[in-house]
Amino acid sequence: MKSSRMDLDLRSINKCIRCGTCRSVCPVFEEVGWESSSTRGRMLVMKRLSDGSRPDDKDLSSLNTCTTCGLCSESCPAGVIPPELIMDSRRELASRGVMTLEQMKLARAINESGNSLGDPSSRLGWLKGSSLVPEKADCVYFAGCLSSYRYPESASRTFEVLRRFGATVLRDEKCCGSPLTRTGSPAARFVDHNLAQIDDTGAQTVITGCAGCYAALKKDYPKRLEVKSIPEFLADHISELRLRRLDLTVAYHDPCHLGRYHHVYDQPRRVIEAICNLREMKSSREKSRCCGGGGGVRAGYRDLSLRMARRRLEDVPEGVDYIVTSCPLCIRNLSDAGGKAIDLLELVARAIHQS
Ligand code: SF4
Ligand code: SF4
Repeated sequence: MKSSRMDLDLRSINKCIRCGTCRSVCPVFEEVGWESSSTRGRMLVMKRLSDGSRPDDKDLSSLNTCTTCGLCSESCPAGVIPPELIMDSRRELASRGVMTLEQMKLARAINESGNSLGDPSSRLGWLKGSSLVPEKADCVYFAGCLSSYRYPESASRTFEVLRRFGATVLRDEKCCGSPLTRTGSPAARFVDHNLAQIDDTGAQTVITGCAGCYAALKKDYPKRLEVKSIPEFLADHISELRLRRLDLTVAYHDPCHLGRYHHVYDQPRRVIEAICNLREMKSSREKSRCCGGGGGVRAGYRDLSLRMARRRLEDVPEGVDYIVTSCPLCIRNLSDAGGKAIDLLELVARAIHQS
């Protein structure tokens, strides 16, 4: 039987000097206002749990309302990476069966259906003419759960562009595992499954339009795979795309797991500037405010998640036609909060010269 003391990285937890710098950037604290909903509060919860204290509902909600946005890591003077510790704590707690109902529902949906929506229908419903897809290719498009089931048109348009460059799709793609990992549940069987599918195609490169899939493919899959986000891929091929200018002004929203986690900042801006006018949000790049959807928060705390999204919309400058981003979860959350959010690929599809 496991001891009540949680097995956490105490060295990292003890690096926290309780200065509270992180409180001023945490988007959850901004909405909720309780110390337990701030990064520093979560650090204190983890310290207590690692000292052997029993977790209660308040501790669970403190740890599970973190969107894993990474803003606190950027500002911490002691070099602490709180979201890593928070995800470790969720995993430790989940391994002891200590989970919220929403965490359990999400894990069950993914384990039973292979996707985070719990949708039993075919994942490749967006793909027209599937028999024409090559079995072998150098690169593969990893569509992800949200695009496959909630934005099929977008997945289809993305693949239309990528197949010009020889990409194929997986015959039996399943959830990348990110929603499980972020909420504390094991994802190894999904990683193994997708990896076998990728290897079957012979592809060395995986391209994805989802920031969550991108971060998972980069971190949890073998390093021998080259992982590209859609902004990186488009920026690499910008001259071949023959884009025409559109009479639009847009703002770019940096998805946390593409921007802060992987520094994909310049590529989407380069693509946008080749097509139309770009205006920056009030906070952008390393300081970009979170859309509020990540880390299982949209699934578990919808109202809080939407409040964060509405706050993000306050950053949109005047006179902008669209918020452009490269993550279906950001699009979903910002749209539900009343924003006009579109995928970078959608913008590119409109600008592709049809000669
Ligand atoms: S900024 Fe860093 S050191 Fe300061 S309270 Fe937050 S986690 Fe601790
Ligand atoms: S990762 Fe984001 S939501 Fe989580 S504690 Fe840090 S600032 Fe707050």
